Amino acid sequence: PSLEYELTRRRVQTNIAEIWNYFSSELGKIGRLVATGSNGSGKELEQSIQQVLLQGAEHKRSLLSDMEQLRRVDGYEAWREKESNELSDLVQRRLHHLQNPTDCQTARKLVCKLNKGCGYGCQLHHVVYCFIVAYATERTLILKSRGWRYHKGGWEEVFRPVSNSCHDAGTANAYNWPGKSNTQVLVLPIIDSLMPRPPYLPLAVPEDLAPRLKRLHGDPIVWWVGQFLKYLLRPQTATRDFLNAGMRNLGWERPIVGVHVRRTDKVGTEAAFHGIEEYMTHVEDYYRTLEINGTTVVRRIFLASDDAHVIEEARRKYPQYTIIGDPEVARMAAVSTRYTGTALNGIILDIHLLSMSDYVVCTFSSQVCRVAYEIMQTMYPDAAHRFKSLDDIYYYGGQNPHNRRAVIAHKPRSHEDLQLKVGDLVSVAGNHWDGNSKGKNTRTNQGGLFPSFKVVDKVETAKLPLYAGI
Ligand code: GDP
Repeated sequence: PSLEYELTRRRVQTNIAEIWNYFSSELGKIGRLVATGSNGSGKELEQSIQQVLLQGAEHKRSLLSDMEQLRRVDGYEAWREKESNELSDLVQRRLHHLQNPTDCQTARKLVCKLNKGCGYGCQLHHVVYCFIVAYATERTLILKSRGWRYHKGGWEEVFRPVSNSCHDAGTANAYNWPGKSNTQVLVLPIIDSLMPRPPYLPLAVPEDLAPRLKRLHGDPIVWWVGQFLKYLLRPQTATRDFLNAGMRNLGWERPIVGVHVRRTDKVGTEAAFHGIEEYMTHVEDYYRTLEINGTTVVRRIFLASDDAHVIEEARRKYPQYTIIGDPEVARMAAVSTRYTGTALNGIILDIHLLSMSDYVVCTFSSQVCRVAYEIMQTMYPDAAHRFKSLDDIYYYGGQNPHNRRAVIAHKPRSHEDLQLKVGDLVSVAGNHWDGNSKGKNTRTNQGGLFPSFKVVDKVETAKLPLYAGI
């Protein structure tokens, strides 16, 4: 290891101990202030707490910055880049092979209808699900997109066709899922109606790639989904030109933090309202981490929303930030105008730019942000940590249970907690982002809270075709 690596590693170790020294001492003092009731008007107490939060935040940023430094100087960066490119090339070759059979007439096919009655992000996830089933069953994906609610002319006018040679189901009879092993043309329903459910749905990754993915990536399923999006979203020339022009017009420059604020029809039905201040706290934290060693950067944000007012509000409240974003695009994104060609351009550009950002702050309850995060994985060897979600943890609609394995035992602190033994599998419902997660212990069937640091993700795998020689 390099000198820098060893020095940074020891520094992190010392500072982990230091952060605890600080918190235990300061919180002890605050405890005594409260106990003796000598906190006067409460002002002194409030000041002490403010001080702890400020220094605690700075300490956390310093540790995170050192961890970044460790990755940069540990001597494995070249390997990560190479491995990431090779894995991606391998999957893209397999998809290309699957989608371009030598004889389309006799090829086994999986028919997927793009027009699921939902938004663009939701429809992309629907197509990715179809594509995963196609990959797993070695069937060429046939994407039916005529009359698409976002673009009547169909998918192929916007993105490159999913196949160069095999575009329709042909004349053979089509059968509904699950069909039989000799069924040539199979039609897939939406994931919510899929019966029976195969074992390779998300969050599973292919068994043959899993060992490499676990080494390379912090969240292999997001990488895996990202690979399907990479293939699907290859732009037609006009789309490519439009994206480039959009970036030029907005003045795109990095570093930049992507912020997605989902409002209109989502708020109060599928997600809670979050004020712009809440997003900005995390943006601020990101930039302060970048600047911890004294460098200053221009604080840029790319702001995407379906509510044009948010962009105006952010510009008014945060003049010290360069805020890139187009209120006109946001206006076209509102529910009443959403399904038109103009709105399609807007959402394609917004997702593209969110995915190209250094970091995204958003609500993972929105498929727009989850898609952006998935595509982001194709831009870095491992972008698993480049996000802050104000609500859900990452999930894939219709997924199988998300399991984490206990690596530290847990004794319930109150009746709200669940008990953990090392090795227990917990089906995780969510992270409260306060140190605790919620889930159900699959051994005891008991549900409740537990400290998030006591579990690690279990990477699910499924036996899938090996695409030998490709
Ligand atoms: P979800 O409802 O947020 O989970 O995501 P969907 O993609 O399924 O549906 C929301 C739709 O609203 C999107 O597909 C867009 O049409 C529109 N929309 C939401 N947020 C944005 C945004 O930030 N920018 C643009 N251009 N459109 C958005």
